[in-house]
Amino acid sequence: MTPDRLKELVRTVPDFPARGVQFRDITTLINHGEGFAATVAMLSDTVEGSKAARIVGMEARGFIFGAAVAARLSLPFVPIRKPGKLPIDALGVDYALEYGTDRLELDPGAFEEGERVAIVDDLIATGGTALAAAQLLRQAEVEPVCAAFVIDLPDLGGAARLREADVPVSAIMSFP
Ligand code: IMP
Repeated sequence: MTPDRLKELVRTVPDFPARGVQFRDITTLINHGEGFAATVAMLSDTVEGSKAARIVGMEARGFIFGAAVAARLSLPFVPIRKPGKLPIDALGVDYALEYGTDRLELDPGAFEEGERVAIVDDLIATGGTALAAAQLLRQAEVEPVCAAFVIDLPDLGGAARLREADVPVSAIMSFP
């Protein structure tokens, strides 16, 4: 399957979650067996090329793709969670959203010191979420060597921001 065909499997929902937003919905993509498999294969090629030793994915859609890529490559997977979900003392990073703030948390004991780690998520928009993930990894003293997304929204500048922070970025498809 080509990236263009995979793009056709993403559903666009106007005015969700707020008026004027075009929500790119990956549930229709993962509800297509061949489409899901091809997406995971493409993300896996990117992660394999980065020589990452471990994969992190952000709650919740990053779990779907990150865990699938990890299993395909026989790599370990570490969830980056919303606040208060991890049962241990976690590292945390607060980051700005369009309205208000959010927080992501990570188990610092989940890594080997200095290792190469890949970030996987469904979509990069402003980059706030992925930058917070990269910051958490650096706090955990490991190296974010790759950020692989299904979808990039380049007009929102997230991929550029991540590259400025020295995190290599790739996406299977983009929506203007
Ligand atoms: P960012 O932090 O602005 O880059 O937003 C990316 C995060 O918000 C990802 O974790 C996405 O799951 C979610 N997100 C933002 N916009 C969309 C969308 O149009 N469709 C699906 N998820 C989105």
